[in-house]
Amino acid sequence: MHRKTFVLALLFLLVSVLLVAQQPVERIDLNVIHKLKTAEVGGGGGGFGGGRGGTPRPVPIMETMYNLTDRYGPRLTNSPQFRAAGEWAVGQLKEWGLSNVHLEKWSTVPPPQAPGDAPGGRAPRAAIPSWEMTEYEGAMVSPTYMPIIGYPQAWCGSTDGKVTGDAILVANPATMADMDKLHGTLKGKIVLLGTGPLDLDFPEKPLGTRYTDSELSELVPEPLPTGGAGRGGAGRGGRGPILSDDEQRALTARLATFWKDEGALVTVSSNGTTRGSGGVVSSSSAQRNGDPTKNVPSVSITAENFNRVARLLAHSVPVKLAFNIQTKFDMAQTDSFNVIAEIPGTAKPNELVMVGGHFDSWHVGTGATDNGAGSAIAMEVMRLLKSTNLKMDRTVRMALWGGEEEGLLGSAAYVKEHFADPATMKTTSEHDGFAGYFNIDNGTGRIRGVYLQGNEMMRPIFEQWFAAVKDLTPGVITSRNTGGTDHQSYDAVGLPGFQFIQDPMDYDSRTHHTNMDTYERIQQADMEQMAIVEAFFVYQAATRPEKLPRKDLPEPRGTGGRGGAGN
Ligand SMILES: [Zn+2]
Repeated sequence: MHRKTFVLALLFLLVSVLLVAQQPVERIDLNVIHKLKTAEVGGGGGGFGGGRGGTPRPVPIMETMYNLTDRYGPRLTNSPQFRAAGEWAVGQLKEWGLSNVHLEKWSTVPPPQAPGDAPGGRAPRAAIPSWEMTEYEGAMVSPTYMPIIGYPQAWCGSTDGKVTGDAILVANPATMADMDKLHGTLKGKIVLLGTGPLDLDFPEKPLGTRYTDSELSELVPEPLPTGGAGRGGAGRGGRGPILSDDEQRALTARLATFWKDEGALVTVSSNGTTRGSGGVVSSSSAQRNGDPTKNVPSVSITAENFNRVARLLAHSVPVKLAFNIQTKFDMAQTDSFNVIAEIPGTAKPNELVMVGGHFDSWHVGTGATDNGAGSAIAMEVMRLLKSTNLKMDRTVRMALWGGEEEGLLGSAAYVKEHFADPATMKTTSEHDGFAGYFNIDNGTGRIRGVYLQGNEMMRPIFEQWFAAVKDLTPGVITSRNTGGTDHQSYDAVGLPGFQFIQDPMDYDSRTHHTNMDTYERIQQADMEQMAIVEAFFVYQAATRPEKLPRKDLPEPRGTGGRGGAGN
């Protein structure tokens, strides 16, 4: 090489090195990744089953799933099953040697209403009592016999033993006048809520899917934060006439006891979305305002069963239905809990990395993909980090939330107690020492990337972390937000909280909030992948010199607290 060229080349190299040095360089310990993988899937490059002829050895993450679903599920917030599952989780986490394992209580009784609460005339939030179903049978008994696949709605009341009545089809009243018109026509009836058979689209798409490369890349080109493009951001479609807040409240109050006041025996509903056909029953709930023990017995049934009755009625064939719905309330049981466990940090024990997902579920399946999966993975992350005995500077704390499905209540209560009240944005010392939170709540599909939640400062950090586990995930990073789950409670007080991009699988087409959300929907390899990736991210956040970069503290929200339904 010519001497002058050589000097130029050297200079160029030096400048390049200096430029690279300016980017934050994440320290990656490949041995840590190796240890986590080995602890999760064994040393033989993955694969389970114990070989031919042998007894398969229990897989911890699937044993956790079994306990959260078949054994102790479903986990409707504050139900006896929810509490039993919580006790089981505490025992298991202690057995794994974790520290500070406990159920941290929070009250579901909302604070006294401030003026301006319950915007849009929505009913004010009500406490969540203990409730469970103890018996169900349903059938069409005339003109012929047909068993009805159905589930009592959460927090509904009981029938007086087995009741039989004429089926009638009634549109859900939208005004006082609608209710006046129905007055005197419902006594002894079993009311199908609707105007006729539901339209069921022919399902042309596959039941379960993974993201294709092009779908993933469509998530990426977002140079600027997009705002609430996430799931759960959509409003409830505007049906019916526009009412004032007072009118809406009065209507909601009357509707609460309307069917019972009118002497209807049972109300029956169904839904014709993708998830509401093919024998799938979507979960739904009765309201908890007023005295829910007086709720009319109500049931969700399959669209096909609903439609047969509706078509018979449309042909003027009288239909008799029979139901026995027994449910049990404990109105005194309104405290809920989050499940907490820790691995204390070595050098900076007062700084905190958190990992979690919501523990509660709906009651019609066993709460496997929503969100037994996220809970089992958070528990598995703790098991992996503990059993590999990795040294971490910061304390790692797991939290499994209650009350997510009722509006992110458990995580919001926790964040308010520990970090900051979004109403005032007064922060605590724990807020100062908080490094980051990782959440899983989109079913069983493996991690394909992460939502930045508008925090562009995280991009170069996540890029380097993902690069180290390239064999497991493409690591797509999108500045988009995703909503409807517990990382939002952190984001709301300016703390870095993240939800991963997961393969969709059959979450939206079959399992989400349905009776088909059961153990067999859980894909073991996906679960293992998530556990390794999330454990690695938690480890990185707990050991890098700096806490994760944060967005600015949001403006105080004031007291008009809101909270949408969870996912
Ligand atoms: Zn969920």
